Amino acid sequence: MADGALPAADALAEVLADVRRYLGWHRDVAGEELHASMDGALGAIATAMSVEVTVEGSSTPPVVVGYAEVSTEATVEQPRPEPAAARVGTSAAPRTVPPAAAPAPASEPALARSTDEPPRLDEVRRQLGDCKRCKLCSGRKNLVFGVGNPKARLVFVGEGPGAEEDNQGIPFVGAAGQLLTKMIAAMGYSRDEVYICNVVKCRPPGNRNPEPDEIQACQPFLEAQLNAIGPSVIIALGKFAAQTLLRTDTPITRLRGQWREYVGIPLMPTFHPAYLLRNPAEKKSAWIDLQAVMARFPKPGA
Ligand code: URA
Repeated sequence: MADGALPAADALAEVLADVRRYLGWHRDVAGEELHASMDGALGAIATAMSVEVTVEGSSTPPVVVGYAEVSTEATVEQPRPEPAAARVGTSAAPRTVPPAAAPAPASEPALARSTDEPPRLDEVRRQLGDCKRCKLCSGRKNLVFGVGNPKARLVFVGEGPGAEEDNQGIPFVGAAGQLLTKMIAAMGYSRDEVYICNVVKCRPPGNRNPEPDEIQACQPFLEAQLNAIGPSVIIALGKFAAQTLLRTDTPITRLRGQWREYVGIPLMPTFHPAYLLRNPAEKKSAWIDLQAVMARFPKPGA
């Protein structure tokens, strides 16, 4: 065998093993169909390349190996000018969003601060209180503030509570939440280790999209939450989280997979788990996005 042939085969074996681990994760969250067809195809490739691959069909998070550079390459920061006024969500009228660092409006004593220190998360919750700042308050059972580690290095931001979240007062506990929990586990974390919150803290009636005035009313509290936590990295789940934090109207299909920044904190936009439940074929893209996060921010000690 020529010099270099074995390392190349080893590298391919590693790649194939990693893809198999991804497929194991995918099978757990998406069912057997894609797994079976991809598994067959991978077997054929391995056979053709005379490479032995260890099959691991568990939910173990894939190790990021050489080929992951493809995905990190795709995430190289591409600064783009953002409009000062962002349209968020629907095709409704443009919404002007105050700059991220802007002080809270004078009418907003909620986020008043007596020192330059960021507020603690429990202080942000206290200041949010029994919020009646927008019309969503009238239909809610529970305000859904957020859950997890108040000093998490990894924060997931979703859109807004659904029925189950409204019942329990905890974000991402319904069907989409179960998928998110699996995504978090596949990254090597538990829900307790990360922090999970939403753009709006109260359930929009009938699970409709949050409206611009509702997003705007909640935004100072989302920003205060992120300020209090001070994460190393944010994962924006879906268009409302990504567009709100990035103050852009760029579609999530273009934002996803591209590293961006929220007030200096690296932010990875990806698809919302509810979208992934409706479009399972896109789970592969979401996994690439999560891998890019894992590659840039490996879990300490993992
Ligand atoms: N979808 C969200 O965006 N957030 C939740 O908490 C639940 C579903």
